[in-house]
Amino acid sequence: MDAESAINKLLDGNKRYMSGKLAEKDVGSAREATKEGQHPFATVIGCSDSRVVPEFIFDVNVGDIFVIMNAGHCVDTLALGSIEYGVEHLHTPLLVILGHEKCGAVTAACQGGPCPPNIAAILEKIRPAVEKGGVDKIEESVVFNMNVASEEIRRRSEIVRDLEKEGKLKIIEMKYYIEDGRVEIKKKFFLLFCKGWSYGRN
Ligand SMILES: [Zn+2]
Repeated sequence: MDAESAINKLLDGNKRYMSGKLAEKDVGSAREATKEGQHPFATVIGCSDSRVVPEFIFDVNVGDIFVIMNAGHCVDTLALGSIEYGVEHLHTPLLVILGHEKCGAVTAACQGGPCPPNIAAILEKIRPAVEKGGVDKIEESVVFNMNVASEEIRRRSEIVRDLEKEGKLKIIEMKYYIEDGRVEIKKKFFLLFCKGWSYGRN
């Protein structure tokens, strides 16, 4: 499957999810078909938020997507290792950064204030996105947090950069809307380039 087909498969699944009419799935057959190995068509890094479940919102089956999750979809060395496993070892043609409306991690980073050290590490990671947030600070920061994640992946992973350069990998940012269940591809246009980082707005 190529990246465009992978994107269409995710968007078609999301339309079904929004309509409430999910595709019929034979989980047993899917489990059987993948017992010797997995061949997912997309790698997804998303937020741990319990309302944003990639397999549900894209209406996919066992073995379809390779998912990495943590609060605020932060990119650290471990997340990068998992991403590289997905895109290089499992050859997914698509990497999705899945942000979402009303993200609690981004909201907490916007609000600031004291918190336990391990949670503080997450908020610190999100802070660069918050600093770029605008009038509607939280939702703007959600989008900036997706930009920061995708640029950090590119900056820190030679594997990702090479695959993208060779046309074997497409990286997209998607935002999920809690209210109605839709996902939108964020069309990024570059406002400025600075120190190898791109800052975009939807
Ligand atoms: Zn979140």
